[in-house]
Amino acid sequence: MLPSKLPEVGTTIFSQMSALAATHQALNLSQGFPDFPAPEALRQALAKHALEGHNQYAPMAGLPELRDAIARQLARHRNISCNPDTEITVLPGATEAIYCAITACVMPGDEVILLDPCYDSYRPAVLLAGGHPVHVPLSAGDFTPDWGRIEAAISARTTLLVINSPHNPTGAVLTHEDLTILSALVVKHGLLVVSDEVYEYLVYDNHRHHSALQFEALRAATFAVFSFGKTYGVTGWKTGYCVAPPALTAELRKIHQYVCFVAVTPVQQALTDFMAAEPDYPLTLAALYQHKRDLFNSALAHSRFQLRPSAGSYFQLLDYSDISTAADTQLCTQWTREFGVASIPVSVFHQQPPTQNLLRFCFAKRDNVLEQAAEQLCRI
Ligand code: PMP
Ligand code: GLN
Repeated sequence: MLPSKLPEVGTTIFSQMSALAATHQALNLSQGFPDFPAPEALRQALAKHALEGHNQYAPMAGLPELRDAIARQLARHRNISCNPDTEITVLPGATEAIYCAITACVMPGDEVILLDPCYDSYRPAVLLAGGHPVHVPLSAGDFTPDWGRIEAAISARTTLLVINSPHNPTGAVLTHEDLTILSALVVKHGLLVVSDEVYEYLVYDNHRHHSALQFEALRAATFAVFSFGKTYGVTGWKTGYCVAPPALTAELRKIHQYVCFVAVTPVQQALTDFMAAEPDYPLTLAALYQHKRDLFNSALAHSRFQLRPSAGSYFQLLDYSDISTAADTQLCTQWTREFGVASIPVSVFHQQPPTQNLLRFCFAKRDNVLEQAAEQLCRI
């Protein structure tokens, strides 16, 4: 028998719930992906580049034209200047970027602080690097970080802290003050940071996205990770990028070149064309998704669920405390079968089982799907 390097791990909850939704022909609000098409010009650009024969390896760090386009976008939307040759790397998805960044930072025995609930790929990446994940809970009510508690968890072995804003699965958004405090902690304790910002453009109401790259001291210690899949609605294209200072980027690339070597060439060309033609397309997303969140939530107003505020991401948490005391893992399966709507149980994002009764619903879906899902959820 082959001993497992990840004995605690099974198939991800996203794969499980999407498969269950398909089996029961349920509306799939579980896995995070849009069910509506990406911009036609972007899809046509991919077809064009594939047909024109751009189908061989790209440069390892990503197409220079795409890295230039990323640098221009960071300058235009965030007032961040960075060198595309030494600070930007294009990878096949944010997941690989996170894996390579964590692998680059963590030596066997190092401790890594993860804030629970947290995205499912962080812990396995730390474990595979021989590190020890130290899980610190976010505040139970609003999922804000308790910086005092986080600092208390830092030891002489702590090398890395992972943050995620806007946050999956809660939709919470870190404030300017949060990142200011984090900057001070990072300097004081000599930490590195992986900042997962894949939902950077999906921020609602009066909230704003603050990138770790906008804080000088923080930026010097940060791998910031982004996903074209989220921003351009093409999760299946599996393309993302990492922005980090030159010394960190050099280590990240050493690993990336042996994990995947390169991202897909015609996808990178299509993204380059679309970013040049529609530089402000990402700024249209907040209004689109806020409309979807509000549509879903208002249709649930008379349900027995309590809505949790979602300031960002494309996820809405529903609290079912008034309906059932059963485990979220049981209810999401049962309600997929009985009421035809698939969701994700929030407990799977926790190391210590939470006291809250929460299910995560993805509202990156067509309006009629959201209305139909809400109608079915109102029957519970
Ligand atoms: N981080 C978070 C918080 C996510 O929700 C996801 C899922 N899309 C990823 C990273 C991975 O993104 P990608 O599909 O580009 O690998
Ligand atoms: N990030 C997506 C989610 O949270 C899923 C990605 C995946 O299936 N690994 O739903």
